[in-house]
Amino acid sequence: MAYFDNGNALFADARKNHYAIGAYNINNLEWTRAILRAAAETNTPVLVQVSMGAAKYMGGYKFVKDMVADQMDAMDITVPVVLHLDHGDYDAAIECINLGYSSVMFDGHKLPIEENYAKTKKVVDLAHSRGISVEAEIGKIGENQDTGSGELADVEDAKAFAALGVDKLACGIGNIHGIYPENWQGLNFPRLQEIAYAIDIPLVLHGGSGIPQDQVKKAISMGVAKVNINTEFQLAFQEATRRYIEEQQDLNKDKKGYDPRKLLLPGTEAITERMKEMIDWLGTPAIA
Ligand SMILES: [Zn+2]
Repeated sequence: MAYFDNGNALFADARKNHYAIGAYNINNLEWTRAILRAAAETNTPVLVQVSMGAAKYMGGYKFVKDMVADQMDAMDITVPVVLHLDHGDYDAAIECINLGYSSVMFDGHKLPIEENYAKTKKVVDLAHSRGISVEAEIGKIGENQDTGSGELADVEDAKAFAALGVDKLACGIGNIHGIYPENWQGLNFPRLQEIAYAIDIPLVLHGGSGIPQDQVKKAISMGVAKVNINTEFQLAFQEATRRYIEEQQDLNKDKKGYDPRKLLLPGTEAITERMKEMIDWLGTPAIA
């Protein structure tokens, strides 16, 4: 029977020893399988996360939890797996806690600050009473817009959220979700340093796809322990699928190239391969 780790010990160790564990978004069965396979083949811990939109697409939070658990059982997964809600609103966070997700992110950035604090506290109290981990976000992680710099988190806000008992903190340091614009100015390391000195909980880098490796590595050396990856795998899947179709393999009727199990395979394998590369340069160590 599949067991979900809450990741607290894993991420604390990652921050202490200056490596990161990837947080990989799932979109469907193929994504789930590809990610679990890369974790199994490298014998490394993994955080599987689902956004509210992807959960809705697949059939809801319970469906997602059951699918991941059943897939873990089917694949005989023995590495630690954290099942995490990515950017959840209050209702989604509560629902996932009640369903037995081992980790949730409550993203209250749209709320007035007092309400954000109050709801974060409620989520933390309920989650902790059940051994579930909580990630919060301060400020707002930049969206994929025409601006050359994402938003910066405030150090005092970071301290206030840490004091609420959150286990991991996502903070804007110039990072952006989606594809980075040409004129992007890079991560703001002085701000990251200030936050890392102020609080000692694991920090989370959202929008990890597309940040130059040397910048991600530097951020990891300074306290980032969780790096969120979504777009990277979407692009890997898209490129491999495009190649399959451009090579007209889908038109090969003798080999049943149109069979979805064949059509989706190159993209699925590309995710696993890309993830193995990431595990390598994030420095995620194999389980002893
Ligand atoms: Zn994010």
